[in-house]
Amino acid sequence: MTEPLTGARELVDESVGDRAPEWDRTGEIPEEVLRTLAARGLLCAGVPAAFGGLGATSAANGEFTAHVGSRCSSLRSVMTSQGMAAWAIQRLGGPQQHARYLPELAGGRLAAVAFSESEAGSDLSAMTTAIEPDGDTVVVRGQKVWTTAAHYADVIVVVGRYGSGAAAVVVPSSAPGVTVRRVPRPSGCRAAGHADVHLDEVRLPASAVLGGGQPLTLLVTTALAYGRISVAWGCVGILRACLDAARRHARDRRQFGAPLARHQLVGRHLANLLTAEQIATRVCEHASRSWDDGSPDMVIATVLAKQVSAVQAAQGAATAVQVLGSAAAHEGHVVERAYRDAKLMELIEGSTEICQLILADHAVSMAVS
Ligand SMILES: Cc1cc2nc3c(=O)[nH]c(=O)nc-3n(C[C@H](O)[C@H](O)[C@H](O)COP(=O)(O)OP(=O)(O)OC[C@H]3O[C@@H](n4cnc5c(N)ncnc54)[C@H](O)[C@@H]3O)c2cc1C
Repeated sequence: MTEPLTGARELVDESVGDRAPEWDRTGEIPEEVLRTLAARGLLCAGVPAAFGGLGATSAANGEFTAHVGSRCSSLRSVMTSQGMAAWAIQRLGGPQQHARYLPELAGGRLAAVAFSESEAGSDLSAMTTAIEPDGDTVVVRGQKVWTTAAHYADVIVVVGRYGSGAAAVVVPSSAPGVTVRRVPRPSGCRAAGHADVHLDEVRLPASAVLGGGQPLTLLVTTALAYGRISVAWGCVGILRACLDAARRHARDRRQFGAPLARHQLVGRHLANLLTAEQIATRVCEHASRSWDDGSPDMVIATVLAKQVSAVQAAQGAATAVQVLGSAAAHEGHVVERAYRDAKLMELIEGSTEICQLILADHAVSMAVS
């Protein structure tokens, strides 16, 4: 049997080439790059083969995500959004919705997921977006912010209030009442197509509603799980890119008559970077194993992976800048981009503090009396 991701890294390498700094500068990934990767099912490689997807395991998809993340965090962010949209549909939708939407996403339509609002960031229970049933239709009203990939997306999975609970709804970006406005010049992942999404009385068929009536926390936790593991693997990619650049530079650049790597304080930076990359890899492997085994630990292993990998990536990227010195002070340098991109990974999909609160609750729940 052919491995579902055979040739995928080569296609990414060919598609990205040396253009990641240019995409970072212009804030745009060329549409044909996204369409080519999406049409091959690579942006949501976990979609089962029964729905036209590649059916990759979490472990294989994770390593692939790390590879994309090592080349371009903006592209990896778009991939995370696509995978999260597919996962939300898979987990929250019914058989007819699976049959309709999953082949579309695995076949090239681009998607984003919108939870956050200006007054509902870490505290998503404050969201006010409403999905109101009206006969065989629903009406969606609300304003979402910072939706990654919304600039490129054909459909946006919007989370909102639905009766006394919550729901997600698949909103075509072209539907009347939808306005997508780009976030100008974000500090990192600049080509990831972040946008605010305004939903002004958007009327859709009721069949577009996923998971209607579920408690908001449950629905959000379900949908975010994919985003968290994908970001965690993306951070592994950032660390690998930083380690690679730092060790080459420390080997080749000489100061005080010796390669930088021979100066012990620089050597310590390299050891710390290698340690960070290994820690992040191991914790992601552990989380992906729990996905692939269907383990009940999956949710907490994923939060742990996201928390550890994002912190390691932010610290590791700063360490790499230190090793490269002025060489990393050029806009668009792989390490300079990593430094900006990695810090954002500590804010999203549950910030470092929010992940710590979840882990603390878990620790207390494990206490034996
Ligand atoms: C690059 C980027 C991409 C994004 N992509 C998406 C997307 O695709 N879809 C989407 O819906 N949203 C997206 N977001 C929004 C993102 O999810 C929110 O920014 C995030 O949830 C944090 O919310 P906030 O920015 O409002 O910060 P706030 O919630 O205001 O938090 C600010 C600080 O306070 C801390 N804090 C908040 N509450 C607590 C607490 N109880 N205890 C301790 N510390 C706390 C936070 O950890 C953080 O450090 C994106 C944001 C960015 C920057």
